[in-house]
Amino acid sequence: MKTYDYDLFVIGAGSGGVRAARMAAGHGARVAIAEDRYFGGTCVNVGCVPKKLYVYASQFSESFSGAAGFGWQLEKPDFNWSTLVANKDKEIQRLQGVYDRLLQESGVTVINGRARLADAHTVIVADKHYSAERILVATGGWPFVPDVIGKEHIVTSNEIFNLETLPKHIVIVGGGYIAVEFAGILNGLGVEVSIFERGQKVLRGFDEDVRDFLIQEMTNKGIQFHFNTEIDRIKKHESGLVVHSTEGRNIATDLVMYATGRVPNTKGIGLAELGVEMDSVGAIKVNDDYQTNIASIYALGDVTNRVNLTPVATAEGMALVNKLYANKVGKVDYDNIPTAVFSQPNIGTVGLSESEARTQYPNDIDIYKSVFKPMKNTLSGINEKTMMKMIVVRSTDKVVGMHMVGQDAGEIIQGMAVAIRASATKAIFDTTIGIHPTAAEEFVTMRKPVA
Ligand code: FAD
Ligand code: NDP
Repeated sequence: MKTYDYDLFVIGAGSGGVRAARMAAGHGARVAIAEDRYFGGTCVNVGCVPKKLYVYASQFSESFSGAAGFGWQLEKPDFNWSTLVANKDKEIQRLQGVYDRLLQESGVTVINGRARLADAHTVIVADKHYSAERILVATGGWPFVPDVIGKEHIVTSNEIFNLETLPKHIVIVGGGYIAVEFAGILNGLGVEVSIFERGQKVLRGFDEDVRDFLIQEMTNKGIQFHFNTEIDRIKKHESGLVVHSTEGRNIATDLVMYATGRVPNTKGIGLAELGVEMDSVGAIKVNDDYQTNIASIYALGDVTNRVNLTPVATAEGMALVNKLYANKVGKVDYDNIPTAVFSQPNIGTVGLSESEARTQYPNDIDIYKSVFKPMKNTLSGINEKTMMKMIVVRSTDKVVGMHMVGQDAGEIIQGMAVAIRASATKAIFDTTIGIHPTAAEEFVTMRKPVA
């Protein structure tokens, strides 16, 4: 039998790669992992972690303004962007160290450098060849920026975390997760924000009520939306940038951020040369067991462009390792994956949107909905409202969708996702005792479907 240097060679030490490498080593496999940029990947370095820290930072401005209603007298607070960036960097450095240590402690060989496939069992890093029985490609994704005149003047989510100074005004192009999250962050930090979205609303694919409600709340906070518009060109002037839209609107701004999606990281790593099948955007095609058309090569996480979320990448890593090294079959269930958008207010959602439910269960849907002012905002004077929505199949009483826009929506919907996975009926929600006074109790007290 041919012997290899490793049983498993993982390319990319992000959410999915690290989880797979550590778990495989835990089952006794000889594992190596190559990383060319940063341990922890997108999520730790330019994604979930710094983003959430910045969301916290930005929420203070509203907390300060709302404090007076609760009796607090504050001097005008002063925000220092450089302090936030430096403290964020320290935290990320700590996390990178944790990832590196966890890998070393679990016996994984860590190789620094850009990896490339030479053949179905060989990876090259810095001219050194490593052979492996199996190779896992977990190289993640990269911001996509469409071709637009003046592209060289823009930033993406990769750069926004480390700006030298905050702009006075920013144009954000796109209306997905990143666009609305950064609109909230920057608005909270005192930047004037304009969003340019080519569609009619932000967050395509989300429940329509959720989309409308978020747009309304963000507008109330001062964010300006320009819908049904695309960017024709971006011009640099002495005093800043001017964004020209396709229907003739010109906006002067200090900074333009493109948040127009991400593409899989599959170029220049030997995949095409080896004949690994990819789709039209360059995502690696895999079967249910994360195996590509080349039997020894596997792929998971954002590089496969299925559900591009950290917990999905880690779940895929665990499922793969269970199958390959623990003889356990436990496939990832892609239905009812909960998700949160850390916009302000937050969105939390699990299951079907109303329109999906109406298509799947025609004339058999009841909608429960509640819009209210959270208790904290009574004294604070803050205008922000909360919306909660529940979608129920009338004939079976099964809850098939839950949506919330409001403070801590992600925290609340995580628990609701368990109930949905357990096939909870509306009757079970109705007989669950609420926790009072909370916003979450609304989900167990909604009694009358909307007309
Ligand atoms: P990645 O984490 O991207 O890891 C891939 C790794 O491979 C990288 O470290 C890269 O440097 C390395 N690599 C690439 N090519 C090579 C090579 N040739 N050789 C060696 N190494 C290589 N998800 C959530 O669930 N919640 C959130 O709140 C959230 N917020 C986000 C915010 C932003 C701004 C962004 C951009 C993403 C966010 N995501 C969030 C998505 C999440 O970050 C990704 O889904 C997740 O990181 C995917 O993990 P992965 O392992 O597939 O890839
Ligand atoms: P999204 O796919 O969420 O949104 C992309 C946006 O850009 C859409 O509004 C899309 O419009 C628009 N767009 C795409 N192409 C163009 C174009 N050529 N010109 C103009 N507009 C365009 O991508 P993001 O970059 O916001 O985020 C990438 C992914 O990262 C997310 O989908 C998510 O999986 C993950 N993520 C998760 C987060 C979380 O869990 N909280 C946070 C941040 C990211 P249209 O709708 O019309 O196609």
